[in-house]
Amino acid sequence: MPEFCDVALAVPLDMVFTYRVGEIAPVVGGRVLVPFRQQRLTGIALEVHDRKPSVTTKNILRVLDATPVLDEQLLRLGRWIADYYLAPLGEVFRTMLPLGAEFKRTIAYRITKEGRMALHLAGMSGSPARSHRTPDEEAVEFRVLDYLAAEEPEQGEVPAVSEQTLRSTTHAAKSILSGMVRKKWIVREDVSTVRDAIPKIRIALLKSAEGKLNDNQQRLIETLAASGGRVPVDTLQSLDVPRTTLATLVKRGLVEIVEEPAAFAVSHSKPRPSPFEFEFNPAQRSALNRLQEAVYARKFSGILFHGITGSGKTAVYLAGMRAVLDAGRSAILLVPEIGLTPAVAADLHQIFGEEVAILHSALSDKERAQQWHRIKSGEARMVVGTRSAVFAPVRDLALIIVDEEHDSSYKQEETPRYHARDIAVMRAKMANAVVVLGSATPSLESYFNATKNKYALVELLDRVEQRPLPEVEIVDMRLEFQETGREQVISRKLAAEIQERLDRKEQVMVLLNRRGYSPVVLCRACGETLQCRNCAIALTHHKREHKMICHYCGYLAPVPKACVHCGSEYVYFLGTGSEKLEDLLHGMFPQARIARLDRDTVRGHEDFERTLNALDAGELDLLVGTQMIAKGHDIHGVTLVGVVGADSALGLPDFRAAERTFQLLTQVAGRAGRGQTPGKVVLQTYFENHYAVQYAARHDFAGFYEKELRFRSWMQYPPYSALANVLIRSGKLDEALQWSGTLGKWFDQNRHEGVRVLGPAAAPILRLKRDYRYHFVLKSPSREKLNTTLRAMMAHAATQKIPRTQVIVDVDALWLM
Ligand SMILES: [Zn+2]
Ligand SMILES: [Zn+2]
Repeated sequence: MPEFCDVALAVPLDMVFTYRVGEIAPVVGGRVLVPFRQQRLTGIALEVHDRKPSVTTKNILRVLDATPVLDEQLLRLGRWIADYYLAPLGEVFRTMLPLGAEFKRTIAYRITKEGRMALHLAGMSGSPARSHRTPDEEAVEFRVLDYLAAEEPEQGEVPAVSEQTLRSTTHAAKSILSGMVRKKWIVREDVSTVRDAIPKIRIALLKSAEGKLNDNQQRLIETLAASGGRVPVDTLQSLDVPRTTLATLVKRGLVEIVEEPAAFAVSHSKPRPSPFEFEFNPAQRSALNRLQEAVYARKFSGILFHGITGSGKTAVYLAGMRAVLDAGRSAILLVPEIGLTPAVAADLHQIFGEEVAILHSALSDKERAQQWHRIKSGEARMVVGTRSAVFAPVRDLALIIVDEEHDSSYKQEETPRYHARDIAVMRAKMANAVVVLGSATPSLESYFNATKNKYALVELLDRVEQRPLPEVEIVDMRLEFQETGREQVISRKLAAEIQERLDRKEQVMVLLNRRGYSPVVLCRACGETLQCRNCAIALTHHKREHKMICHYCGYLAPVPKACVHCGSEYVYFLGTGSEKLEDLLHGMFPQARIARLDRDTVRGHEDFERTLNALDAGELDLLVGTQMIAKGHDIHGVTLVGVVGADSALGLPDFRAAERTFQLLTQVAGRAGRGQTPGKVVLQTYFENHYAVQYAARHDFAGFYEKELRFRSWMQYPPYSALANVLIRSGKLDEALQWSGTLGKWFDQNRHEGVRVLGPAAAPILRLKRDYRYHFVLKSPSREKLNTTLRAMMAHAATQKIPRTQVIVDVDALWLM
């Protein structure tokens, strides 16, 4: 048997670790529990071998899986991600496996010889030895020693007591325990273990219904048969029959009882829904045909579905998935964070019955693990979920669909900084499956790939039932200012249009992509603003909560009555957020029923859905909100959409600003129009002539795309180059400066053929969450050359003792802030 095993651990180091194999050999792709520094960690076994490492090896503590949790394909995918995004392999695997709930982290303490001696001496003298500690602290210490010493030895060794038990019985603070460890009175141990993964449930299976049965037995068999031959034992026991009935049937071999993970047992008694009926227009039908042909071909292909808002893309996705399910294969549908409301989940259950697993952010770790096991076992073959669902361990993957593929929630903004859309494409390649990217406003990258024939392009450019696109009217807010002599939030035009809709008992939506009441507090005496203590960001005034809040780190401060810098009373609250907009509209339209949708009013998917239902039921006249209202799939349309300051992003130093603005404007405009009643959009802007605004107003994606592509080409930005943002951060300014200087010098002194390096420069947000930040932007037409340079830079950073966690490499960065 091989003696050694290489293990990937979720630590910020670009290496694998070799351990000695014990009696049970680990399986490749399975989990092992290993000691690492002072801890126990779970890792993934990558290779068992006989190559003796040069350093001494520790033993594997426990082999946790008899079969791989990551099959060959997912292991390969993980390696690809680690390589492409320069992320530690173990951290990639941790992201891919939502099984954290199966690992229980426990710290325990054990008394030492020195500890016993101290206890003994204290007992002899009647009082503890003289020290600088307070009598209270001493009392606690001896309580701890007493407690630990009282444990009965097991096999000659006193068992360790968990920190939780020890602290709740002795009321010892953590600092006291650490102090005792330093004095060597007690030792601290990591005794983390793996929990019994999934709660089990007993299931009765119907084997046969033959033979003579009494009434009770008859009833039980009938119940079982009516629910498809399998029912949780608990359900049968709630039937009005004696408990012995089931036991008798088991003895006679008519019923079998098996144990299954609890998640498998949910609502098996529900009848299978009839296949979903879709009524398709010709464009939808031809899109579905393209999708199905590709799936039948059983080889990799990519399709970009460019379908305008209201073209019925979702129905095509679901029909495609249904066909995959009927063929006995698997499919994954990725949706943006906001798309997975309870209503959507209910629809999915209606279509796919128990064969769908839904992975959303509100799941607990335990629920997530349960869903993972359902998918892994083949019980659920349709997977619908947000970003990380791209790693679902389905069998025989036929199709991955990425809905709203341009949505930025697919990018993970922590290590590994992957983009789920790009992972979906790579996974489909590895599995010889089909990947469908869908959007009304495809990302520049995806549309570019489609025009270069990397993907097939399928366009759905008609709305269902020939519903007309809304008319868009642009209001130039600079003119509005000149004509009215004051800064307006709601233009005269928009106010009149809103009034008209209210008079007709129609509904209106107003977008302002900035939450809170006022985004800036300015002192008129000294010109200073009120900034976050941890970030170089102005605090936003939230009136209802009566707080100043940092939108980046969550820091809270009281609302100032005077300037914190000079004490002047002339502090002004400037600008308008969605909360203030709601107040303004209340003032302008006192009879209107108004609600607001933003991260302050929406805590979960239920809140979101409740507000949308109220709008749908006609219980609201006006809905105010941030980009959330542009993304709601379930919004059935209002007759007027007002856009207030949605173009503020155009002023940001970010090459994707135009693309983001175009997407937001197009998406929110798509919400205008209800049934056959055409909608109208009033778009207020300070950038009237900007092409993002102009093309959005004309619903002209192709026009925008051409123009934006030319700009990207001139500037050598994606899709014409591969780009990476390298961020150097430290809580100490001089350290951040020194490290970025060191790397800057290295970039200067070494040739990086075909790679352009910009920087170091202060990041647009110089300080964030207490860290000072400097960055480099690297661009190259060759991804290979880019990654070679990045890798060399990381190696140099390691030799310069710059910690791995303080150099953030963001490949294909979406934000350069
Ligand atoms: Zn001041
Ligand atoms: Zn902050």
